[in-house]
Amino acid sequence: MINNSKIKESMPTRSAKERAKTFEEVELGYGEETAIKEACRCLSCMAKPCVSACPIAVDIPGFISKIKTGDFKGACAVINKSNPFPEICGRVCSQEKQCEKACIRRKTGEPVAIGNLERFASEYFENSNENSELVGKSNPQKYKIAVVGSGPSGMTCALELAKKDFDVTIFEALHEFGGVLVYGIPKFRLPKEILNKAVNKLKLRNVKMINNCLIGNTITIDELLNSGYSAIYISSGAGLPKFMNIKGEGLSGVYCANEFLTRINLMNAHSSDYDTPLTELGDVIVIGGGNVAIDAARCAKRLGTGEVTIMYRRGEAEMPARLSEVEHAKEENIKFEFFKTPLEFVGDEDGKIKEIKYQNMVYFGADNSGRKSVIPTSNEIHKMRADTIIIAIGSETNPLIPRSTPDLECDEFGKIAIKSGFTRTSKPFVYAGGDAVIGAATVISAIDSGKKAALEISKDFEARS
Ligand SMILES: Cc1cc2nc3c(=O)[nH]c(=O)nc-3n(C[C@H](O)[C@H](O)[C@H](O)COP(=O)(O)OP(=O)(O)OC[C@H]3O[C@@H](n4cnc5c(N)ncnc54)[C@H](O)[C@@H]3O)c2cc1C
Repeated sequence: MINNSKIKESMPTRSAKERAKTFEEVELGYGEETAIKEACRCLSCMAKPCVSACPIAVDIPGFISKIKTGDFKGACAVINKSNPFPEICGRVCSQEKQCEKACIRRKTGEPVAIGNLERFASEYFENSNENSELVGKSNPQKYKIAVVGSGPSGMTCALELAKKDFDVTIFEALHEFGGVLVYGIPKFRLPKEILNKAVNKLKLRNVKMINNCLIGNTITIDELLNSGYSAIYISSGAGLPKFMNIKGEGLSGVYCANEFLTRINLMNAHSSDYDTPLTELGDVIVIGGGNVAIDAARCAKRLGTGEVTIMYRRGEAEMPARLSEVEHAKEENIKFEFFKTPLEFVGDEDGKIKEIKYQNMVYFGADNSGRKSVIPTSNEIHKMRADTIIIAIGSETNPLIPRSTPDLECDEFGKIAIKSGFTRTSKPFVYAGGDAVIGAATVISAIDSGKKAALEISKDFEARS
């Protein structure tokens, strides 16, 4: 059963016109027939380079071979052995930089659409109402473990520990659970119902979830340890936005992407029925080239503004954003201005942003990581008008937990330092992972840390009992 087509089965997608004003999901998912056809493009090669390229080594040929035979439940079971949240990864992972990049099919055409198939398998299973059967039951009777933060890393660690019958409680600063998956990634990429189903897997496993609890303020790490928690996993992410430190950042109409996206995703600022609206945005310029910049631009577009432009200092090929999101943004008529970097935001007499001063850039060598560096082409300064600026140039670890935990060591960038294994910190019984340790990264790397933390915690506690 080999399908020799050189191109992927295309993903059914809401038209750009239809999605211009809606936050409904853009990609609609494969049907059974399409999924089987696409699965048959997998050559089940012996070397399995896709598995080596997956940070959590999902048995990709294994689950795809189940789809080929119509055993969709079996496909999901294979994925679940390595990935507790395929419904999320199938939607947001950068497959083109990982599993699909390694696919042997790329030698002669497009890679197998692994992400679309992962999404299909998980979705089929979710909709079959047999979810709790795969999720399984827990009997929380072992040590009490606290998990700080309910992003993908905390959710994974909590779920894996609950499967081993630890008594797990998640403490989350915000009122909703999911971390960036709920406050950052817009619903048109990751619908709320999908995330709710993922969170429900934790509830089915008796994980306790406490919201509106800011660790380091409401209660400290030491107080948690003294109140009966035997270990703590810190997965508090990297939610502190970076700024450009240029003139005019304090002007009205200049947002950081975190605030802009949180207002939309958590406070319904795009709806006039709620009382935290965003003011009229007009022409918007988003600064940055990652997923955050693309999400902010696409949200701005949906708010019915004027032109939305992404300004990025490097070229298109260097954009860290997922390829499909860049393509969707182009279809949605978002403009791109490459090789430009802002120098100053200029306001009107009322302190409202009116234009941006920028310089043109050109490639010049590479930085330590091998990534292309840029320098100004000349001293010439250009201007572009703007009614709103959204800054999306990265984020870093919030210092609250390290500051309130004196013996928790951090590296020079403020990220929590790992002292042994993958997740053990300088403080006994305190583990850390995800963006809080790696810096702003990916959902799959956060899941990987969560799995490793659960393994190390359970090993350390088995050694004690
Ligand atoms: C807009 C946006 C789009 C993205 N798109 C993608 C994508 O398409 N694909 C991809 O792979 N990655 C994407 N990423 C990156 C990815 O979402 C993150 O790498 C991932 O969510 C990190 O997971 P985490 O669990 O470590 O932290 P987070 O998801 O940041 O979760 C941390 C949680 O901890 C909570 N917290 C923080 N401090 C405290 C405290 N003191 N007490 C209690 N709780 C606390 C926070 O409120 C948050 O809920 C995106 C990021 C953003 C911002």
